[in-house]
Amino acid sequence: MANRKLVMIPGPTPVVRSIQDQMGRETAAFGDPGFVRDFKELLADLKVLWRTEGEVFVVAGTGTLAMEMAIANTLKAGDNLLIVSHGYFGDRFIELTNRKGINVDVLQSEWGTIVPLDKIEAKLSEKKYHAVTVTHIDTATGVAAPIKEIGELVKKFEDTLYIVDGVCATAAEPEYVDEMNIDILFTGSQKAFGVAPGLLILWAGPRAMERRKSLGTIPEYYIDFDKWLPIMHDTSKYFATPAINLVWALKESLRLIKEEGLENRSARHRKNAAAMQAALESLGFKILAEKEHRAVTLSNVIYMDGVNDLEFRKIIQEEGVIVAGGLAAYAGKMFRLGHMGNIDTHDMVSTIAAIERTLYRIGQPVELGKGVGTLMRELLK
Ligand SMILES: *Cc1c(COP(=O)(O)O)cnc(C)c1O
Repeated sequence: MANRKLVMIPGPTPVVRSIQDQMGRETAAFGDPGFVRDFKELLADLKVLWRTEGEVFVVAGTGTLAMEMAIANTLKAGDNLLIVSHGYFGDRFIELTNRKGINVDVLQSEWGTIVPLDKIEAKLSEKKYHAVTVTHIDTATGVAAPIKEIGELVKKFEDTLYIVDGVCATAAEPEYVDEMNIDILFTGSQKAFGVAPGLLILWAGPRAMERRKSLGTIPEYYIDFDKWLPIMHDTSKYFATPAINLVWALKESLRLIKEEGLENRSARHRKNAAAMQAALESLGFKILAEKEHRAVTLSNVIYMDGVNDLEFRKIIQEEGVIVAGGLAAYAGKMFRLGHMGNIDTHDMVSTIAAIERTLYRIGQPVELGKGVGTLMRELLK
């Protein structure tokens, strides 16, 4: 019998049955009283769990649309933006904001490392920046930014909004919007929430809402905070059709998160990541990110000598696991392995075992069971 295919890429992530069931429900009208109530409860939970007195938006779209929504509602042509980039997704803000005529300065780290805090502080002191963007976990490098510490230093610059791309971190890494001085945080449904792709979730604190007000009419229509705010305050209202079944699916994801506890969920991600990374290293792979800045949601795994990327990813697919390829300079040299959201021990053991079988089949020296043994010993700690 052919192996089932475990989707272990950095999004979409495995969708558990109870969430699938919500997507399979008969679609209701957007004015349906049951849906109106469910949507309202979802929004309330998102505010409480991410600890903000500000606003939250749940809109059909992906993480990239959320990036654009964050920028479009806080910056106008001619404003100054500092982009702190730890890889491909940090860099994505460059083109996005160039097109809008925003003046951009970029601090880039070498892949696998972070931009040091003192460099960010020195740059912010040079001139008035209207905002700074930081990618919490850059999916191209597996590097996690010190979001809390950066929030502390951005606090010193009164006119600067702090925009955090949480797409590969939110619901796995601790992110408390108001406490961490975050003005905008956003993610997509298909990463650590473990829902299918199709929803963006964006939190906007009071300072971001003030900034939106000061901009007047903005060129963007669908992603304008002002268009969606009446719906987020009264879910029986209409602006554009909500993704009904995905809203239900996200609500089920929130129910699972509340049952587990957000802090326990973060601790689980930390433990799983350490175990997966130890297992990968025991097999002879290297992890791109420096140890102290490693993501908990994915691993960016550099091949040992002699492994052909296309062959490795073809064979591992036959063995029942899908992984993603490396990006840019790391294309062909690395694979990316997601381990976030609602995955369990079976998923992780199967994944490491499939990696071992793949190494064996492509003729790499491998001691079968070594990675699995390391993984299980770490998980049992
Ligand atoms: C996946 C990802 C994005 C893009 O999200 P899409 O849903 O693919 O548009 C942006 N930023 C980060 C950090 C991501 O991991």
